[in-house]
Amino acid sequence: MRLDGLIVCNQCDLLLREVELEPGAKASCSRCGNELYRLQPNGLQRSLAFGLTAAALFLVSNAFPIVTINSQGLTNSTTLLDAADRLVRDGIPSIAALVFATTFLMPMLEILALIYLLLPLNLGRLPPFFPLAFRVVHLVKPWAMIEVFMLGLMVTITKLNAFASVSPNIALGSFVLLMLAVTAAAANFDTHTFWKQVDILKKLQEPVC
Ligand SMILES: [Zn+2]
Repeated sequence: MRLDGLIVCNQCDLLLREVELEPGAKASCSRCGNELYRLQPNGLQRSLAFGLTAAALFLVSNAFPIVTINSQGLTNSTTLLDAADRLVRDGIPSIAALVFATTFLMPMLEILALIYLLLPLNLGRLPPFFPLAFRVVHLVKPWAMIEVFMLGLMVTITKLNAFASVSPNIALGSFVLLMLAVTAAAANFDTHTFWKQVDILKKLQEPVC
């Protein structure tokens, strides 16, 4: 938690004074050693670049078929969303929900919230409702990991394995790159620098008396 010029350790609640860091350095709590913040040079710009790349890859990953389902002699190429729909129709909605959340909903929320926050910020503006968008980034971050995406993809393939086959295709290649881009976008989102920039922009927007 940040106060004006002060920071509270979220592990032991010690109140500490913020210090300026050298690029790449990190500040830790003097009582429990918990990492408080670190200064990632150009972290927000990198996060935005990876976020925009991820948005393009997300569109490609969902526009093209990723699995081929053979059923009653018929072959259907389906997207990841179609695969989740198929799992619902096969009577396993909980698995469908997991696949939908890990491969579609969470990456989409992470990408949209990051771009919504960082694109205006890089242009020197504060977007409306930015605390809400920041909360979304914070809540979704644990899901934006390669392991989680792989889990979703593996569950899709395993559950559909009686009638589904996955062969290298444009959507699969794009999804692998998407996993890397979303993970990199989340990892480069420098919370400390973000709030510093918000403070600067707020002060600039305050009316001068
Ligand atoms: Zn502490």
